[in-house]
Amino acid sequence: AFLSNKIAAGEVVERPASIVKELLENALDAHSTNILIEMEEGGMSSIRILDNGDGIQADDVETAFYRHATSKIKTDRDLFQIRTLGFRGEALPSIASVSHLTMRTCTGEGPGVELTLEGGHITSRTPSKTRKGTEVIVQNLFYNTPARLKYLKTVHTEAGHVSDVVNRLALAHPNVAISLYHNGKEMLKTTGNKDVRQVIASIYGRNVAKEMVAVSGTSLDYSIEGYIAKPEVTRASRQYMSLFINGRYIRNFHLARAVQEGFHTLLPIGRYPVVVLSIEMDPTLIDVNVHPSKLEVRLSKEDELAKLITSSIQSAFNKQTL
Ligand code: ADP
Ligand code: MG
Repeated sequence: AFLSNKIAAGEVVERPASIVKELLENALDAHSTNILIEMEEGGMSSIRILDNGDGIQADDVETAFYRHATSKIKTDRDLFQIRTLGFRGEALPSIASVSHLTMRTCTGEGPGVELTLEGGHITSRTPSKTRKGTEVIVQNLFYNTPARLKYLKTVHTEAGHVSDVVNRLALAHPNVAISLYHNGKEMLKTTGNKDVRQVIASIYGRNVAKEMVAVSGTSLDYSIEGYIAKPEVTRASRQYMSLFINGRYIRNFHLARAVQEGFHTLLPIGRYPVVVLSIEMDPTLIDVNVHPSKLEVRLSKEDELAKLITSSIQSAFNKQTL
């Protein structure tokens, strides 16, 4: 079992950013409204994430570290209507198998539990604090997988990847206060007041936020809401295009093209828009089971969505020039 966790870790846990992504998604799935992330040395020396979510029941804490022991899917049907960010039950066992991990968790009813693991083996279990929520500390990452360790880049690069992951999830969840610190320095702090524009301002700067126009639209199966920067404010990279489906960041070539088409001829060649679009849809029309990283999704009515994206952006700009 421990070997298979270590193998699975190769897929789920590539670098500090993948760990932060999984832990942050867990905190979001647990209905947290306030999440603090601290990392040292690009997350290579430590990652700590503290949330005020549901917590894990004392009896279930060990189970959370068993492979495929997810609390989020109970029946086969659930697999076709996923509303949570996680559902594979792979992240915690994978992360624990390649690090020294401490979890403190409490549901707010009765005392919590502090569990420590080394390479996936439980080394201690003690009663812990009574404040509702979960804290996870990951240290000595990849200490037992030297090949992975060697593959890590500089502190600067790893911190950048973590930042990207946190920024995206913060854009998708403006109703949650999320802060990120690197070596004690604040990298991001959102208020959780639901205003995406404030999150955009803290990530891309006030000047960009100021130039964004509101986008919204609905079709039979989809509704979209978000902001797009005017054609004057473009970037030389696709990085600034953030599309979310049901709170999950996705990459989809077809939909990215649909965004660009909303600009028609306004978009200079090689330039990409700054855009944040949240798409809501019936989860049964989406297949997130394509790859463990879950970035690529399959949609059964992709053309309908592409058309909606293009037309919503066009009408956002038209309203703008009126
Ligand atoms: P998944 O998210 O796919 O279910 P994980 O390995 O990420 O699998 O987590 C295993 C289980 O541990 C989750 O299903 C959830 O019940 C519990 N869990 C993990 N992190 C948290 C958290 N921050 N707050 C509450 N429960 C958590
Ligand atoms: Mg998870």
